[in-house]
Amino acid sequence: MNLRAGFVSVFIACVLGLSSHPSPAQAVPQGSFGFTDFAAEAKLEEKFLAVPDPKLAGEDLKTLTAEPHLAATPEDYKTAEFVARKFRAAGLDTQIVPYRVLLNQPKVVRVEAWDDAGHLLMTGPAREHVNGDPQQDDPRIVMPFNSSSGSGDVTGEVVYANYGRLEDFNELAAQHIDLHGKIVICRYGSDFRGVKVYLAEQRGAIGVLLYSDPQDDGYYKGDPYPIGPWRPDTSVQRGSVQYLFRYAGDPETPGFASTLDLPDSARVKNITGPDGNQPRIISIPLSYHDAAPILQALKGPGAPQGWQGALPFRYHLGPDGVKVHLISQQDYQRRIIWDVIGKIEGSQDPEAWVIVGNHRDAWVYGAVDPSSGTAAMLEAVRGIGALLRQGWRPRRTIVFCSWDAEEEGLIGSTEWVEQQGRTLDRAVAYFNVDVAVSGPNFSAGAVPSLKEFIRDVARSVPSPVAGSVFLQWRLKVSSSDEHHESNAPPIEGEKVHVGDLGSGSDFTPFLQHAGVPSTEITSSGPYGVYHSAFDDFAWYTQNADPDFLYLQEMARVLGLEAMRMADADALPYNYIAYAREISAYIEAAKRKAADDGLGSLDFAAAESAASRLAAAAERAHALQSVPYGDLTQLNLALRQAETALLSPAGLPGRPWYRHTIYAPGEFTGYSAVVIPGVNEAIDAHNPTLAAQQLTVLSQALDRAANALSAAH
Ligand SMILES: [Zn+2]
Repeated sequence: MNLRAGFVSVFIACVLGLSSHPSPAQAVPQGSFGFTDFAAEAKLEEKFLAVPDPKLAGEDLKTLTAEPHLAATPEDYKTAEFVARKFRAAGLDTQIVPYRVLLNQPKVVRVEAWDDAGHLLMTGPAREHVNGDPQQDDPRIVMPFNSSSGSGDVTGEVVYANYGRLEDFNELAAQHIDLHGKIVICRYGSDFRGVKVYLAEQRGAIGVLLYSDPQDDGYYKGDPYPIGPWRPDTSVQRGSVQYLFRYAGDPETPGFASTLDLPDSARVKNITGPDGNQPRIISIPLSYHDAAPILQALKGPGAPQGWQGALPFRYHLGPDGVKVHLISQQDYQRRIIWDVIGKIEGSQDPEAWVIVGNHRDAWVYGAVDPSSGTAAMLEAVRGIGALLRQGWRPRRTIVFCSWDAEEEGLIGSTEWVEQQGRTLDRAVAYFNVDVAVSGPNFSAGAVPSLKEFIRDVARSVPSPVAGSVFLQWRLKVSSSDEHHESNAPPIEGEKVHVGDLGSGSDFTPFLQHAGVPSTEITSSGPYGVYHSAFDDFAWYTQNADPDFLYLQEMARVLGLEAMRMADADALPYNYIAYAREISAYIEAAKRKAADDGLGSLDFAAAESAASRLAAAAERAHALQSVPYGDLTQLNLALRQAETALLSPAGLPGRPWYRHTIYAPGEFTGYSAVVIPGVNEAIDAHNPTLAAQQLTVLSQALDRAANALSAAH
């Protein structure tokens, strides 16, 4: 998953196809925060950086993308065995960990449309096809479908709902267009597809068609594949429509693990009810080849100007003009999935885990999403394996994870996190990579305590272009920033923004359920084949990274994150930055409350708790800067400060989400809502709930301040 609906800004830096491999010596190690003496670490890092190899990464990418490998298929298991072999070859203590989880696979998906006169407009879906793609005819390519879609057979009039955002549905209501008994057609983009289905279901729709408009990732952006990187007419974005904002993972086991021995009686029954994460209605994804005849025949009011896409006719809202018939027969089964877990036991603090993760399952071939991440991770593992053979042992334990069934709802990672339980209270970081490489623009998201850490790591890794990854990131920041939105104003002198973590990939259970400080990295570019059959090796080498230099770059960044976090004397969290961002969120919420007529809400307790956290952070920071003596107490305190930000009761209406600072928005899905309990209560104009959530936030900040103070 991961992409914010598949668009990435279109800056194509002219850096593809470079022939010279950068040497690690070009990078000057600068990250010393948390280290008593960085010289020894810098030497190790230099050795590590010399190992990841573009050619070998390219070979792994080719192997991983040789066959479609949807979660829970035999081909998926083959990739698990491949990754496990690579882990073991590097010296990792490796296990394939199975779970039994509810997954749907499509039996029949069919769409037919007629105009008012009863003339057939289209039947579909048409097969995904372009001229010359070498892998498009494999019979194992799964037909386009939405995982978590209901099964059903419905016929109805059609209403166009733009991106299917809350404001779009509100606009339809303002125009008195009733959605009861209707089929909503909306375009992909702007928010998570599950949110579109959720809003349509709430308003009485009986089905949803989700299509890719050429304005968003097709010919409006540039040449379609196979000429360029953008979406061709028959290409379809598959994807999960799970109600991820309620909880992630297996629908039947929120908060506990779907182990093989879990009895069926222990599973949750009403997964489409108000506490479940599954829609009741059906949804079907479409190409613009199939959506165009439906949209063109729609009558009714003209679409508002911002709703007009790039198809060559005026869009209308409906509901007159078209009737569609949707059939979706989904085979729901509890199926076995396979995570691969490889460990390197720490020499001094084995219970403190540094976890690196990437999903392995793909909708089809998944060259960019997620195999570029897997290929990069495998080269990072090989680099660390080389150090192990030379006798190096990390101070803390490093755990590499290859997740399954991420695409269906972060399932493999969530079940594993739920199985670990309180063990993860000692895990010091989770470093995610998913869509590792779709082009040359590096960007990152992180909790604020790790934002400076990821900048430091980027300063130590050479860019394929020139200088460091950090330098290139800073040069291109305006183009790559969109990928990880940040909710705090830019800080003077900081120079490059690190975004906030919302959802859409496997960091969600770690950060937002278990309170493990997390980061995510990506290197992006024009990418129009997200979740389609064309996200394959041919597309990748033509458009993203022909010489695999960016796989090498991402392997180096990921490996260095793990090494530096595993070896630091004092954990390199920056709580000064965290406290500053939290204060900014509180001030922004206060202004919003005043603007929304909730000016009587009392923010004083939250503001003073944030100030206490800032003061405790300053004192801890001084100890981290020149670490000496026994650092056990300092490191425990630093780690506990993040766990302290979890609310035991969870967020209102969605207790699985426990983090008081970050959650995926109920109405956005991918992008983060900050201090979500407070902000969503203000958005809902509920002053009682807002006041109660301000108390929950103040208590969390007080706990974090107390935890940090215990360092002294
Ligand atoms: Zn992905």
